[in-house]
Amino acid sequence: MTSYRIALVPGDGIGTEVLPPAQAVLAAVGKRHGIAFTYDSFDWSCERYLAEGAMMPSDGLDRIRRHDAVLLGAVGWPGVPDHVSLWGLLIPIRRGFRQYVNLRPVKVLDGVPSPLRNAGAGDVDLVVVRENVEGEYSEIGGRLGRGTEDELAVQEAVFTRKGVTRVVEYAYALAGTRRGHVTSATKSNGIVHTMPFWDELVEEAAARHQNVRTDKEHIDALAAKLLLAPERFDVIVGSNLFGDILSDLAAAVAGSIGVAPAANLNPEREFPSMFEPVHGSAPDIAGQGKANPLGALWSAAMMLDHLGHPEASEELLAAAFGALAEGVSTVDLGGTADTAEYTRAVLDRVGG
Ligand code: ATP
Ligand code: MG
Repeated sequence: MTSYRIALVPGDGIGTEVLPPAQAVLAAVGKRHGIAFTYDSFDWSCERYLAEGAMMPSDGLDRIRRHDAVLLGAVGWPGVPDHVSLWGLLIPIRRGFRQYVNLRPVKVLDGVPSPLRNAGAGDVDLVVVRENVEGEYSEIGGRLGRGTEDELAVQEAVFTRKGVTRVVEYAYALAGTRRGHVTSATKSNGIVHTMPFWDELVEEAAARHQNVRTDKEHIDALAAKLLLAPERFDVIVGSNLFGDILSDLAAAVAGSIGVAPAANLNPEREFPSMFEPVHGSAPDIAGQGKANPLGALWSAAMMLDHLGHPEASEELLAAAFGALAEGVSTVDLGGTADTAEYTRAVLDRVGG
């Protein structure tokens, strides 16, 4: 029996409703593969922020440093500005634990209608690899002459050889296990310092991975192609900002934000990696028991894979996708099942 200690951060709204299904399915799949999970739960959330003035305690990272992984529901709540949950929780964890890869797989699934006429189940199977700790989301910059006619704002983007190379290397290694194709998102025709640097480092990586085909696309054209021909992509690698935009766009192409998973990876395993559905706390449906837990289940499957259990991960995914294909789906997908009913259908497929 292999056992893992997971730090559970349910967060706000439906974040707290989608993690129990993930735990239940992990337990059932784990049982078949000799894997056991124990959980320590942390109440880090906007609710905590409103009560105590901070999303998490100041020694938060130390409390979860020794866990094998972090499973997060969703953070965010009306009345609490987005930057509070971002800079008060997500970014400190991503940066503090050197989770420099943000991995977002996108598939058009049987049972999830894509808004694209030309995208049917199985057609789209891509992964966005987003740089997760540097780039455009920096704190360097400032504003001058507030309120005056000459007011200006400057924001620096920081790209380092080490930071770009490691995430691009990850993308090439991943492409090598898939269809052998990397598309790099750039904008070196308009952004004349950082993006040519990015392009050069991609070319260096391409030379090291001759088995992988490389395409370089400017972000504007890439966004259009992602809509017009999403089936052409395998692994897309982009900076923090470009990757952020492309992964939301790709999730929309797949049909619902409720199914999209994300992994924040520290590939060297010096620190725990963090797994979270892409969706937010969805205040409009929170507390009604109808949230789609698939994004959380898929994130849990990515966690299993990262922990070294690809077969168990595949089994979990097959059960989650199978229940959908069979016609059990939640309201956001046009179905009638609530969270518990869909979870039950998945559990039935893994003997839970
Ligand atoms: P945040 O700022 O936290 O990202 P948001 O409003 O941008 O929140 P979501 O909370 O993801 O985004 O909600 C967007 C819409 O999608 C809402 O109408 C919500 O109800 C719906 N939605 C999101 N996730 C799910 C889910 N898992 N199941 C069903 N509906 C969902
Ligand atoms: Mg949002």
